[in-house]
Amino acid sequence: MSKILDGKAVSEKVFDRIARAAKELPEPPAIAFILVGDDPASQVYVSNKKNDCARVGFRSLEYALPADVGQENLLSLIEQLNADKSVHGILCQAPLPEGYDEPAVCRAISPEKDVDMFHPENVGKLMLGTPGFLPCTPAGIVELLDDAGIDLCGKHVVIVGRSNIVGKPMAMLALQRNATVTICHSRTENLADFTRQADILIVAIRRLQFIKADMVKAGAVVVDVGINRLEGRKVRGDVDFDDVSQKAGWITPVPGGVGPMTRAILMQNTLIAAKAAQKEN
Ligand code: NAP
Repeated sequence: MSKILDGKAVSEKVFDRIARAAKELPEPPAIAFILVGDDPASQVYVSNKKNDCARVGFRSLEYALPADVGQENLLSLIEQLNADKSVHGILCQAPLPEGYDEPAVCRAISPEKDVDMFHPENVGKLMLGTPGFLPCTPAGIVELLDDAGIDLCGKHVVIVGRSNIVGKPMAMLALQRNATVTICHSRTENLADFTRQADILIVAIRRLQFIKADMVKAGAVVVDVGINRLEGRKVRGDVDFDDVSQKAGWITPVPGGVGPMTRAILMQNTLIAAKAAQKEN
């Protein structure tokens, strides 16, 4: 039976660390959440993140806008928040309703307040390895592995999924830790031939319980990023937990694995933004 990578417990340590650091600042860090439309999952995400802010002593502001507010009005709110020195982080909850130019919204957020790390300037910095914000989900995964004493150096990290939010930045962070990285996607032929080679397998594909035990090497570390909603409030991952946990060495549960770590790194990025802004003033 696998050992559990407990994201809930590790995120508590990160939240505590951030709360202590925030107390040292002259003003509490502040983050503005923009929510366009009434997608219930997005409402839950924003409400959870606001709770995280309260937990670490940050100020949070919420701008709930109707789905038809329009690109121009959204961009002018972002411009206003960019100019507001009392706001250190801006997060526009994805996905935006149909008709919005999401990349343009990401570009509109000032790179210094881009705590979700989607601005091309910050993505470029990640490619170059220059310090700054960290990509929330991948950095949360690295922190979770660090906490368990799992070293990435020299390991074969296989990432299934190549999104801009998880797969690609995860590959960058794993490379920075001197892992050998393979990225797989929906066009990968003979996927299991790759996943079975992984010392550390990271899965973010949006496919309910897709990874089975026969796709995993015995003793491997398996990180499940997927969030698939079942009926009611239940969520499950992209990995078949009951099956794979019989064979893997370590495994993240869903819920309680990667999700809380992602949220903790968002707070960490906001702390970095606030420290930088307050140093300038
Ligand atoms: P995404 O943008 O939908 O991308 C999915 C990726 O999976 C794509 O690269 C796709 O390949 C690949 N894929 C799909 N089916 C596949 C298959 N059968 N075999 C191999 N690859 C396949 O996903 P995302 O935004 O990265 O999110 C992935 C999952 O993680 C979702 O469930 C999401 O809710 C969850 N998530 C969780 C957190 C967290 O904090 N826990 C954070 C972010 C996302 P192609 O590129 O070829 O289409």
